[in-house]
Amino acid sequence: MKDSFGRDITYLRISVTDLCNLRCKYCMPEEGVTKVHHRDILSIEEIEEIAKVFVRLGVNKIRLTGGEPLLRSGILDIVEKIGRLEGLRDFAMTTNGILLKKYAEELKIRGLKRVNISLDTLDEDKYNNITRIGKLKDVLEGIEVAREVGLTPIKINAVLVGGFNDDEIVDLVKLTEKEYIDIRFIELMPIGEAIKYESKYFISNQIVLKKLPELIPVERKDISSPAVYYKLPNAKGRIGLINPVSCKFCEHCNRVRLTAQGKLKLCLHSKDEIDLKEALRKGQDIEKIIIDAIGQKPESHHLEDGEYVSKKMYQIGG
Ligand code: SAM
Ligand code: SF4
Repeated sequence: MKDSFGRDITYLRISVTDLCNLRCKYCMPEEGVTKVHHRDILSIEEIEEIAKVFVRLGVNKIRLTGGEPLLRSGILDIVEKIGRLEGLRDFAMTTNGILLKKYAEELKIRGLKRVNISLDTLDEDKYNNITRIGKLKDVLEGIEVAREVGLTPIKINAVLVGGFNDDEIVDLVKLTEKEYIDIRFIELMPIGEAIKYESKYFISNQIVLKKLPELIPVERKDISSPAVYYKLPNAKGRIGLINPVSCKFCEHCNRVRLTAQGKLKLCLHSKDEIDLKEALRKGQDIEKIIIDAIGQKPESHHLEDGEYVSKKMYQIGG
C-alpha cells in the first residue's frame, strides 16, 4: 500500500490502552490519566478486524504499545488473534517491562515474536525518580524472563534526558558487550509533559558518539527503521541512535498508528486523525477508508518549526 509520496506502508503500531502503571515524568502527569469508558476504546474483536484489513493491504509488521500494553485486559487474546494473521512477518510489543516477568512466557506462546523494553537508567533511585513509582528490579527481572522464553532480539529503549542519564551512556552501551541486546537512545521529543521542559533537557544523540568514539557504524539493512546502528568492537549487541528531532527520517517512513480509541494517525506529529472505530461501528467500508487515508499521509513533520501535537505519547504509543 503506497502513499502519495511512493512510501510503502507496511508497519502498523497499535496502542491498546492509554493507562499505565508508571508515571514517567516526560510522558505522564503525576496523577495519571482518566480511564475512558469501555465503549470508547476498541474492543478486542475490533482491533483484530482493523489489523486484518491492514495486513490484507500489505502491512507485514505490527507492534502493540500503549500506555502500558500489558495492563490492557484481554492483552493475551489480542496477541493471539494478531499472532494468527497470515502475512505478518514481525510482531512486537513496546513495554515498560514491569509486568513482563508475569506475562513473557504466555506472550511467546500466543505468538508475540519480540519485545522492546523502555529503560532510561540502571540506577535504582534514578529509575524510581523518573518513573515516579517504578522499581528497577521488576524491569530487570522482566528482561531476563523475556530472554529466557525467546522474545528476542530484545531492544532496550532509553530516552536521553540532559542532566539525568547522559552520565550513564557508557554503562548502558556496555550492556551490549556480552549480551545480544540492542540499546537504542531516543532523543526526548517535545510531546506531552516534555513540552514544558527547558531546552537543557533536550540533548542530541550525537553525545553518544562523542562519548564513545570507538563505536563502529553497522551497515543499514532496513532504511525504514528510524535507528542508525553502531557497535562496540567485538560486542554482541548494537547501539541504535533514534534522532527524531535532530535528524528527520520522514522520507523513509513506512508506518501509521492506531490509538486505543480507534483513531488512525498518519504521522506521530500530526493533529489529523481518522476515526476507524466509528466507521467500523457504522458498518462502513474501512478498507476503502484506510486506502484513502494513506493517500493523505503527510510528507514530513514540522517539529523544528515548533509544530507540536496536542496528543500525549501515552495516547499514541510512541
Ligand atoms: N509504556 C510503554 C513503554 O514505556 O515502553 C509503551 C508506551 S511509551 C509511550 C513508548 C515509548 O515512548 C517509551 O520508550 C517512552 O520512553 C517513549 N516516550 C514517551 N514520551 C516521550 C518523549 N516525550 N520523547 C521521546 N520518547 C518518549
Ligand atoms: Fe507509561 Fe511508557 Fe509513558 Fe512511562 S513512557 S509513563 S511507561 S506510557
